[in-house]
Amino acid sequence: KQATYAELRDVEPFTRDGTRITVMINAGLRDDVSALQLTGADGIGLFRTEFQFLVSSTLPQRERQMRLYRDVLDAADGKRVIFRTVDIGGDKAVPYLDNGTAEKDENPAMGWRAIRLSLEREGLLKAQARALLEAAAGRQLSVMFPMVSEPWEFDAAKAIFENQAEFLRNRRRHMPESVEYGCMLEVPSLADMLDILLPKVSFVSVGTNDLTQFLFAADRANPKLAERYDWLSPAILRFMDRIVKNMVGSQVRLAVCGEMGGRRLEALALMGLGYTRFSISPTAVGPIKELVRKVDLPELKAKMQVWLSSPPPDIRAELTAWAQANDI
Ligand code: PEP
Ligand code: MG
Repeated sequence: KQATYAELRDVEPFTRDGTRITVMINAGLRDDVSALQLTGADGIGLFRTEFQFLVSSTLPQRERQMRLYRDVLDAADGKRVIFRTVDIGGDKAVPYLDNGTAEKDENPAMGWRAIRLSLEREGLLKAQARALLEAAAGRQLSVMFPMVSEPWEFDAAKAIFENQAEFLRNRRRHMPESVEYGCMLEVPSLADMLDILLPKVSFVSVGTNDLTQFLFAADRANPKLAERYDWLSPAILRFMDRIVKNMVGSQVRLAVCGEMGGRRLEALALMGLGYTRFSISPTAVGPIKELVRKVDLPELKAKMQVWLSSPPPDIRAELTAWAQANDI
């Protein structure tokens, strides 16, 4: 009998060969957090803190940020929440930050945004660091930096958090129980620096939305290009495969938090490459959990490696046929 998505809520997703797949959700608003209970997801793998900035007509002050983060942690009720520091600027322009507007960037997606902006507008990142550290008092805090292109950017951002932690400790404030840091892998250059990056981070989360636009040099917001490149094309799959292979033997957690991971065939392909952690939209949790329970990973992995080394003309068609043949 086929379990309904509601019935799957309390079922831990294991593949047929017994691999536990971690299924988390992407969120950005306080109300999104209720989806954790509704779906039974393992946590929030990506909390987009810029939402609060984007819906606000003035820069959200530290206290307001702190209240949001605290509410989110309260609502998550002990499940892990990975807070991504603001990804604003470029195409996500906010009027109250000068130079943060789209008109001044010829190529906003590749422009002055995310960690690039945060490291230059240091006051912004300092305030966010304080807000997060205070909100997580007595709890575990996970912080993720967006658009890191070179490892030094991770170091600089983490240093700002550690300075703020030091400040709070000196004032004998109630501190988080523990703090861990990681970063998005969404700029291809970072993938070739994993040997340098991995000793520094607790986790890496692949942002396939930006990663694919940079790999193919294809604007993710341009409707004329929306259908042009397939997430199941060999170039992307080989790239994703290389990341897994470069992380073999490392304790650093590897996840996917782009939209790719929430689609059936794409998630199948990613599991076939060795990805076991997904952060996806809440509506995708049921379907992906159902999918996980039908998969025999060793067989799928062997198949993926064959397709990667000599790509058939249409991997999507091959994978569809394989899924059908396996009752998936
Ligand atoms: C991504 O780029 O894949 C991602 C998850 O981040 P965003 O969609 O917020 O850019
Ligand atoms: Mg991104």
